[in-house]
Amino acid sequence: MHFPIQYDEPLFRPPSEGRSLIIQATLGCSWNECSFCEMYTTKRFKARREEDVFC
Ligand code: SF4
Repeated sequence: MHFPIQYDEPLFRPPSEGRSLIIQATLGCSWNECSFCEMYTTKRFKARREEDVFC
């Protein structure tokens, strides 16, 4: 089944949410200052336009 959502990779989610639908309304992290975390070093925080999330 094809679900019409456009993901901006890489897409992160906790393992416990592995079977959950993700709607990627934002990119990156609005804080992005935790010294142990490198998840969003490649992305600047921003809200996505609806037409960029759903195709
Ligand atoms: S920098 Fe990483 S750990 Fe810290 S709030 Fe952002 S995503 Fe979470």
